[in-house]
Amino acid sequence: MSKVIFHQSPKSGSAVQASAINRSAVSSAPLDARHRPLRDLRISVTDRCNFRCTYCMPREVFGSNYQFMPHSALLSFEEITRIASLAVQLGVQKIRLTGGEPLLRKNIETLVAMLAALRTPDGLPIEITLTTNGTLLEKKALALKQAGLSRVSVSLDALDEPLFERMSDSQVSVDTVLSGIEEAARVGLAPVKVNMVVRKGMNDDQIVPMARRFRHTGHILRFIEFMDVGTTNGWNLDEVLTGAQILQRITDEFPLEPVAASYSGEVARRWRYTDQAGEIGLITSVSQPFCGSCTRGRLSPEGKFFLCLFASQGHDLRALMRNGASDAQMTAALAGIWQARDDHYSEQRGHNTAGREKIEMSYIGG
Ligand code: SAM
Ligand code: SF4
Ligand code: SF4
Repeated sequence: MSKVIFHQSPKSGSAVQASAINRSAVSSAPLDARHRPLRDLRISVTDRCNFRCTYCMPREVFGSNYQFMPHSALLSFEEITRIASLAVQLGVQKIRLTGGEPLLRKNIETLVAMLAALRTPDGLPIEITLTTNGTLLEKKALALKQAGLSRVSVSLDALDEPLFERMSDSQVSVDTVLSGIEEAARVGLAPVKVNMVVRKGMNDDQIVPMARRFRHTGHILRFIEFMDVGTTNGWNLDEVLTGAQILQRITDEFPLEPVAASYSGEVARRWRYTDQAGEIGLITSVSQPFCGSCTRGRLSPEGKFFLCLFASQGHDLRALMRNGASDAQMTAALAGIWQARDDHYSEQRGHNTAGREKIEMSYIGG
C-alpha cells in the first residue's frame, strides 16, 4: 500500500499536499492514532457574532478594530458541501453547524438543504444540527426545519436579565432567546438542547433557576464546564464548577437518576428527574475528559481542518481545493490527516499544556 505523506508548513499550518494517493483510504473509514473513527463534523460558517460573551469573545479583544475574515476568505456553500460529502464517505454521520453565530451567515438554510441531501455509503441520511445563541432563531426556525435541519442547541447562560446582558455583553433580552427556543420546538426541531456554560462566581447562582425553568418543557438543559479554549478569556481553574458540584446543587432541589448514554461517544452525561420532569446533561470536559471517544473533526470558516478544539493549527483544505485537487486527492488528504491524529488535550490539561497556542472558540465553534 502506498503511504500518504502530507507536507505542512509548521508555522502557517498552510497547504496540505498529498504526495501520493492512498487508494485504500478512499473507500474505507480511517481510524486515528488512538483508534478513533471520524464520525462527527463540526462546521464553523462564520467567525462573526452579535454577542461578545465574556468567556468567548471578550470585547477588549474582539472590539470595533478587530479584523474578521473577509467574505472572500470563507468557504462557499458548494465548497463546504464538497468537503462534507467526502467526510461522509469516510464515516461522518453527524454534522453540526456552528460559528461565531451561524445564523448570521446569509441564507444558511440553503447550506442546510445542501447538507441534508448527503447520504452515507449505506444510503442513510446525515443528522444535521446547529448551535446558536438564539437571537435570530424565532425568525429562522421554520426555514431551517423545512431545509432539513434535525435539531438545534441554544446557548443560554442566565435567566436573570442584567446578568445575561453582562455575560453576553449585548442588549438582547432573555425573552428573545426563550422565544427562539419555543419556536424551534414548535416547528419540530426537538428536543431543543439548551446549553449553559457555568462560570463559578459569575452565573452559578442560575443553575437551580435554569433547572426549574426547563423542567416539564421537553427541552434538555445541559451544563457545560467553563473551558480553557483559546487564549483570550482569562480562564482559571478556580472558575470551574465541576459537573459533580453542579449535579449536587440540582439534586439538593430536584432528585435525579442517571440515564445510559444513547450512543457511544456521547459528550453529555445524561440524568433525569425522578419525578418524570425531564432530562439534563453535564458536559464535563475539564473534570472528566472524554478524549478517548472523541470522534469530532472541525472545519473552520476558511477551510482549515482541525483535529481538536484545543489545536494550534489546522490543515488547509481550501488551498488544496482551490488548487484543483480531485475528489480522490481530497479524500486521501482527509483520511491521512485523520489517521495521523493523536490529539487528547483535555486528558493532558495542566501537563505540558501551559503556553500552548490555541485557536479561539468563536473561530472554530463549540
Ligand atoms: N454562537 C453560537 C452559540 O453561542 O451557541 C455557536 C458558537 S459558540 C462558540 C458554541 C458553544 O460554545 C456555546 O454553547 C458556548 O456557550 C460555548 N462556549 C464558548 N466558550 C466557551 C468556554 N470557554 N467554555 C465552555 N463553553 C464555551
Ligand atoms: Fe458568540 Fe457563541 Fe461566542 Fe457567545 S459563545 S460570543 S454567542 S460565538
Ligand atoms: Fe476531543 Fe480535543 Fe476535546 Fe479531547 S480535548 S475531547 S480530543 S476536542
